[in-house]
Amino acid sequence: MTQDVKNQSGTTPVWTRLNDSEKEEVMGLAGEYRQFISAAKTERETIELAVKTAQDRGFVPLEQKDALQPGERVFATWRGKCMALAIVGSEPLEKGINVVGAHVDSPRLDLKPQPLYEEADLAMLKTQYYGGIKKYHWVGIPLALHGVVVKEDGRVLKVVIGERETEPVFTIADLLPHLAREQMEKKMAEGISGEALSILAGGLPVTSNEVREKIKQAVLDYLNREYGVQEEDFISAEIEAVPAWPARDVGVDGSLVGGYGQDDRVSVYTTLKAIADISNPPRTAVALFVDKEEIGSTGNTGMYSTFFTNFVAELAARIVPRYSELVLRRTLASSRAISADVNAGLDPNYPDVMDKLNAARLGHGVVLTKYTGAAGKKGANDAHAEFMGLVRHLFKRHGVAWQNGLLGKVDQGGGGTIAYLLALHGMDVVDCGVPLLGMHSPFEVAHKVDIYMAYRGYRAFLGG
Ligand code: MN
Ligand code: MN
Repeated sequence: MTQDVKNQSGTTPVWTRLNDSEKEEVMGLAGEYRQFISAAKTERETIELAVKTAQDRGFVPLEQKDALQPGERVFATWRGKCMALAIVGSEPLEKGINVVGAHVDSPRLDLKPQPLYEEADLAMLKTQYYGGIKKYHWVGIPLALHGVVVKEDGRVLKVVIGERETEPVFTIADLLPHLAREQMEKKMAEGISGEALSILAGGLPVTSNEVREKIKQAVLDYLNREYGVQEEDFISAEIEAVPAWPARDVGVDGSLVGGYGQDDRVSVYTTLKAIADISNPPRTAVALFVDKEEIGSTGNTGMYSTFFTNFVAELAARIVPRYSELVLRRTLASSRAISADVNAGLDPNYPDVMDKLNAARLGHGVVLTKYTGAAGKKGANDAHAEFMGLVRHLFKRHGVAWQNGLLGKVDQGGGGTIAYLLALHGMDVVDCGVPLLGMHSPFEVAHKVDIYMAYRGYRAFLGG
C-alpha cells in the first residue's frame, strides 16, 4: 500500500493505491481462487480440498500428536463437513487464541430421499431447497449433481455428473411466458413453488417390457452402470444440485469474479491461504470451517455443535501441562475472532435497499461489519467498540484496505452469521468479509481487490 488506508464511503477504489507487485498478487490470488470455487461446490468437496491444501502446507492431523510445541501446525475434521486448523503460538494459551471462522455450505437444491419418478415420459428428480434461495434463480440454468451415495455395506460412492464438457447436465425447465399469465400475476416469492423444482433427468425408455416406468428405469440403469447406485440407495445419499458452470472473470478488465458458492467459500479460501502463509504466531491461530450456516448452524458439523470447543480442548490438552476445563474456558473467553462471511455490496441496480453512507462498495476493500441482524439488531453479535478499535488498528498497521458496511437499510431485511455463536464463549467477535453482488444467486460476484484484502486482513488477524 502506498498510502494510509481510508475507510469512508466515497474514497477512491483501493486499486489506485496498490503498487505493481500488489496488483499482480491481486490477480494471481483471484486466479487460484476461481479454480478453488470451481472445484469445491459442496461442503464435503470444500473440506476435502481444504484438507489437501492444509497437508501440502505442513499441517498434520491433530490426533497424530501427543504434545504440541509453538509453531506446530495441526488440523482436525468432523464427518467430512467441518474442519479446524491451528498453528500453536508462543504465548500461553490462556491469553487467548485468534480465530477466523467461515462456513463451507451454500444454498442449493438437495435431492429428496426418494427423488426419482417418471411423468409425461420424462424422468424427474425431486428436490428440497437448502438455505435462502430465490426459487426463480434455479430454473432455466444448467445444473450438476454432486454428492455421495452410501451403500448398505458402508461403502461411500462419490457422484459428480455435469462438470465435464463431455458429460450431460441437468436442468429445471421454466414455464414458458406464453402460458405464464397466472404465474406472472403472483407475488415473486410464490411464482415458483418448492415442489416445482424437480430436475429433468432423462427421456429415453428401456426396451424391456417387464418394467412399467421405462424411462425412470433407464436412469436407474445408467446410475447402476456408472456408479453402482440402486434406487433404494438414494435413502442413504446426499446429492446436491448446483450450477454446472465454473467461476469466470467478469468485466472487460477482469476485475470481478463471478461464480457459485462465494458465500462463503470466498472466506474459506482466503482464510485457508491466510493461515497457511503465517508461521510462528505469538497467539495460537485457528482457522475454522463449519457447515450448515445457511440453515441455522445446526447439526453436529454446524457452529452450534461442540466441534470447535472440542478442537480447542484437544489443542489445550496437548499444549498446557496441567489441562483443566478452567484452562479451556479461560482460553476461549480471552480469545478474539473474526466471523469471516460475505456482506452485501452496493448494487447500482438496487441502490435503494442500502444506506449509502454505511454500504460496502466493490473494490473498496474487505468489509468490517459491526453488527448484522434484522430490524432492531435482532440476532446480532454487535462487536464492542473496543474490539472494532483493536481490529481497525491492526488493519492499519498491516496495510489492509477495509471499509465499513452494514447489510442494507434498517427494516429492509437482514441476516446473520456464525458471529453470535463464537461470542457465546466470551470472546470478542466481529464480522469481516468480502462484499458481494447477487449474494445467494447461482452466480455471485466479488471484486478481486476485496478478495485479496480479505486474505491480507485474515492473515494480519491470525498472525497478530
Ligand atoms: Mn454466509
Ligand atoms: Mn448466506
